[in-house]
Parts: sequence; structure tokens; C-alpha cells
Amino acid sequence: MKEDTIGRRMFMKQAALTGGGFGMLAAGAAGAQDEYGAAPAAPQDSAPAAPIDLPEGTKVPRKPLGKTGREVPILLMGCSQKFDPKYDRRLHMAYKLGVDYLDTAQGYANGQSHKTLAPFLEQVGRKNAWVTSKVHLEGRVATPENFVKHLEENCLPDLATDYLDMFFMHMVKDEALLEPEYIKMGDDLKKSGKAQLFGFSCHDGNVVELMNKAARVGGIDAIMFRYNFRQYGDMELNKSIDACKAAGIGLIAMKTQASVPEDLEKVIEFKSAQNSLAQAKIKAVWADDRIDSLVSSMQNVQQVQENVAAACSNTKLSMNEFVQLNRLAALTAAYACNGCSHLCEAKVQGNLKIAQQMRYLMYHDSYGDTETARALYAQLSPEERDFDGVDLSGAMAVCPQKINIAQRLADARAHLMA
Ligand code: SF4
Repeated sequence: MKEDTIGRRMFMKQAALTGGGFGMLAAGAAGAQDEYGAAPAAPQDSAPAAPIDLPEGTKVPRKPLGKTGREVPILLMGCSQKFDPKYDRRLHMAYKLGVDYLDTAQGYANGQSHKTLAPFLEQVGRKNAWVTSKVHLEGRVATPENFVKHLEENCLPDLATDYLDMFFMHMVKDEALLEPEYIKMGDDLKKSGKAQLFGFSCHDGNVVELMNKAARVGGIDAIMFRYNFRQYGDMELNKSIDACKAAGIGLIAMKTQASVPEDLEKVIEFKSAQNSLAQAKIKAVWADDRIDSLVSSMQNVQQVQENVAAACSNTKLSMNEFVQLNRLAALTAAYACNGCSHLCEAKVQGNLKIAQQMRYLMYHDSYGDTETARALYAQLSPEERDFDGVDLSGAMAVCPQKINIAQRLADARAHLMA
């Protein structure tokens, strides 16, 4: 390794060393809230200025997915979007470049993701693409029977396939979903051939507990979880990643851009001769060799080219780029919710969903996907959404990101209420 490049150990060491600095800078960022006010809508930061020429034959590298015995590209196509059912140029370009893994879910794109992916699967041949799909169920309806029912009656017919490469329980929060009956469900699905592998995705504050439990109970082939440059110094998360790795669980990172509105990202004036900011962010994830792959919801061919170029690059993240990412994390912390809902939501009365509202606001602010953000916001019940008269001071006091939760919930209402 060259002296000016870094791997996970050095990145973590630096993150830990600069932890105190983070606090000071984050406080400065809180002061910047007035300056930026309600966050403006901004496109995702991964569109390059000009098309990137990729040499003929370019293919994204592949890695083993945990101990499943299968390999996946280190860059996966996030399918929380609709595709052109006739011929989707972006999907075909990504496929040709080796991004042949489609990460979808029953609920993506208002239920349209599966149906608009089905023609693509037919075009390339079902066996030539990897499909992971997910079903999100909570509470009393989250039974093994219902997961299987949704897989059989929705996912498979909508995708026009008779099997998934991997089936995930989606957005798992409840550790009970890792009890033996759910693990048996996964085993049974694999025996039936309806899913070749089984795992779960998790977005919320108990990711560490879920990952630790998965490592203990066995039967989980892979986990998709939020992981990006903002979390390198999180020691509990790092221990749970180690535990999963030791257990042979495949690890797939998501939310790797950890975006905040574009105007805020400009505060660091990211400079690099090698990488765009978006490329630096995904390289920061790939610098962690415990991570097998990452998913990116590439919205256009330029983003596909940019991400593929980063995946195929032999140049590692430089120390200077790392320092800039750390600075970005610190300066924009007050706009970057990291999903630890167990902290803030435990401090408010009722069933207010703070982290979910922050996520939907991110879809609007950072991804420019107001349609999805509004659709998801509309699905919240009044009790989950409305904060009038709710004392938020305790929640704000425990927020590690020092987010002005009252202001951001007001922003969500202003931007997302139909
Ligand atoms: S608002 Fe703060 S405490 Fe609540 S989930 Fe987001 S980062 Fe965590």
C-alpha cells in the first residue's frame, strides 16, 4: 500500500482520533442550520460533469459473498426505482459492465420495481442475473407464513421467475424475526428452491443487536445494512461486523452516499484529481475489506459509469480524500440522521416516527425523489407523523448528530405533506 493511501484500520484510527473534533465541528454545523434553513431539493451527488470512457471489456470485480460459496460484483444495482420495461439502457449498460446483481423489494417504486424488472430478466436470461428481493412485514402480520405468502404470491409472479437468488426479510427491527421459526422458514425456502439464499436488511437503531444475534443464531446467509464514511468510528458497529464476518455472513452495505443536500456537501469543496466526491464515498466503503459488496441506486447511465469506474480503479482513497470525508461528516452531521431511532424515539410520548421522517426527507432533499418521499410520508399514521404538542427536547438532547429534530420534522411536513 502506498503511503498516501489508506485502508480500514487507518481510516478507523483516524475517525477515532478525530472524534473529539467531530463534536466541535458538529456544533459549528448546528449553527449553520439558520444559514441553510429548510434544505433545498438537490440531485444525488454522483452525476459526473462529462461521460466517462470505460475501456472495452471493463467488468466490475467480484468477491465471495460471505461463506455462501457464491460470488457477487462489488457494486450492486439498487432497484428502488422504475425501469423502462421495453429496454432500460441503464440496466443493460450496468449488466454489460458486470453489475448483474439486482437488489429489489416488493415495496420499491410503489410496487412497480418488480414488474418493470421482469422484462429485463427475460432479455438477459433469468439465470444470467442475480435477483434479491425483500418483503417488509411488522408486528402481528410478520409471521413466517406471511413472508412466504408474499414471496410466492407477489415477488415471484411480478418478477416472472420461479426463484430468487436471495430472499430478505426487509427493514427488520424486531429481534424476534431471528427466532428459530424464521430461520427455519429460510431453510425451508432454500430446500424448496424458491430462494437460494436467505437473510435480512436492517435500517434502524438496533442494527448492532440484530447483527450480533444473526452471528449467534446461524442460518443467515447475508445482511444488508447502512454503512458509510460517517460510521467508520462506530466501535459497537465494528464489533458486530467482525462477529458477522467470523460467522461467514455476507455483508452488503447500503446508504453509502450518506447524502445531505447538495448545498451542504459543497461546504468542504471536495478536491481530488482521482475521484469525485461520490466515488470517494464508495471507495471509503470498499476500503473495508469485511464488506463484500455495496448497493447503489444508480439513476442514470452517468452514475453507472462513474460507479463502475470507481469499482475498477486501482487507486485507493488517499489520506487527503479521507480527511475531506471526515470533515464533511463533521460539518454536516446535523443533517445526517443515522437511523438510531431507539435513542430519540424513546424520549418522546406516543408513536412519533422520527427516523423514518428523516429518511423520507433525505429522499426529497438529497436524492431529488420527492414522489417516493411523499408516497412514504403519506403512509405514516397521524400519530406517527404529527409532532404538534410533542416535547422533543429529550430527543434532541440524546441525538448523537445534534440534529434540530423539531426543525427537520417541520421541514418534512413542509416538503412532503401532499
Ligand atoms: S434524529 Fe438523531 S437520534 Fe434520532 S435517529 Fe436520527 S441521528 Fe438518531
